[in-house]
Amino acid sequence: MIYWLHIARQNDRTMLHKDRCPAVPSHNITTDFWEGGWFEYPDKERALAAMEQSGTNDHRKCPLCKP
Ligand SMILES: [Zn+2]
Repeated sequence: MIYWLHIARQNDRTMLHKDRCPAVPSHNITTDFWEGGWFEYPDKERALAAMEQSGTNDHRKCPLCKP
């Protein structure tokens, strides 16, 4: 299963999503190093490791898809 991280640096927040979560945009995904963005990972372990290294302090799991 694919996992997504949504990094929002302006909110100091990173949220973990499962693939096909309605909150994950299906197109027009923009990623900016300073602003953050959507990042795709092939498994949960890598997504969680990336969340630890995201540089944000608020780490959450999406309440919609419950990853
Ligand atoms: Zn979600």
